[in-house]
Amino acid sequence: MRSISKSAATLCIHAGKTSNEHGSLATPLYQTSTFIFDNAEQGAARFAGEEAGYIYTRLGNPTTRELELKIAALEGMEDGAATATGMAAVSAATLSFLQQGDHMICSKAVYGCSFALFSHQFARFGIDVSFVDMTDHQAVQAALRPNTKLLFAETPINPNLVVLDLEFLASFAREHGLISVIDNTFLTPLLQRPADFGIDVVIHSATKYLNGHGDVVAGLVVSSSEKIEQIKLTILKDIGGTISPHDAWLIIRGMKTLAVRMERHCQNAQRVAEFLQQHPAIARVYYPGLADHPGHRFIGKQMKAAGGVLAFELHGSLDDGRFFINQCQLLSLAVSLGDAESLIQHPASMTHSPYTPEERAMAGIGDGLIRVSVGLEQVEDIVADLEQALTAMQQHQLRAS
Ligand SMILES: *Cc1c(COP(=O)(O)O)cnc(C)c1O
Repeated sequence: MRSISKSAATLCIHAGKTSNEHGSLATPLYQTSTFIFDNAEQGAARFAGEEAGYIYTRLGNPTTRELELKIAALEGMEDGAATATGMAAVSAATLSFLQQGDHMICSKAVYGCSFALFSHQFARFGIDVSFVDMTDHQAVQAALRPNTKLLFAETPINPNLVVLDLEFLASFAREHGLISVIDNTFLTPLLQRPADFGIDVVIHSATKYLNGHGDVVAGLVVSSSEKIEQIKLTILKDIGGTISPHDAWLIIRGMKTLAVRMERHCQNAQRVAEFLQQHPAIARVYYPGLADHPGHRFIGKQMKAAGGVLAFELHGSLDDGRFFINQCQLLSLAVSLGDAESLIQHPASMTHSPYTPEERAMAGIGDGLIRVSVGLEQVEDIVADLEQALTAMQQHQLRAS
């Protein structure tokens, strides 16, 4: 793995900070719903946009603002908007630019609720979505329609870690006048900056690595000043999925250690992937850090390292998989990812259950797939836990046969 650049690590700690009255080192938490105007004229001027300043926390808050400026600096983009959840970021980054009669091209595998929003909810509002295998550039081309407005994808893809070519997606979108949106949750700007390849809008579930401590749900959208203004003045303001200042404060605190955490997540995941790959009970490991993964060629080019999430398939039935997961002691059986704790889950029955079985098969999400978010524990302890659970499963299989 390449080392993470010093400037990004420094930005994680310092970007977005503004001075405060008392010289507090930690960001002041403005836990307030509203802001007092000096007089009626000032209130009117703020509403008219003639004077800068805060009005009401759904429209903006100084604590939240620090988080927005921090993520924008890290992604190398102009501005950001913080949202109540990652899904509020997904909906704001798409609905702000789409209307009835429009068409969107989406990667065939995305986070389960993103898929549910695009395939089940958008149809109710007359927005068509084509789900395509975006590793197949001709399929992306073939999905284009005269009313196509937006392209949405994530890379590496949750949960099977397929890597998409950002340079291709950005140039395709540019060429056809589409807005390109990338969900960068899995890698964070420390390992991948989609804007460097020409992507227009980047979104995050800040619930995951950015906060990193499993105690908040939140999201972020990052883009040009113009697009962020449009998002804030339309869908975010009127549908109302804005973040709580307290949650923004927790994420600012979490992000101070993002660089050291990501480095350790990547090292640990690489070791776990290599352990699983040589284990006879494992049929296949999906992790771009392994040399035989099709996404491996993007490391060093598009992504600095492979990240902390991996997936694998066991030799055995779905029941064997359940038995295995139930044997894990250190790894917690939980969805989510990017926390200090290692988490293990079964996408087909958990995170990707919003897909029908047919839709999952189409998206390449196998029923036997198990996903691990490799945490920050001592890696030997993580490996030992997986090893004892695999041994127990093999003994269970022997007894059953
Ligand atoms: C978790 C996740 C989301 C949704 O975020 P929430 O904070 O749970 O709303 C979106 N995209 C990806 C890739 C995720 O992992």
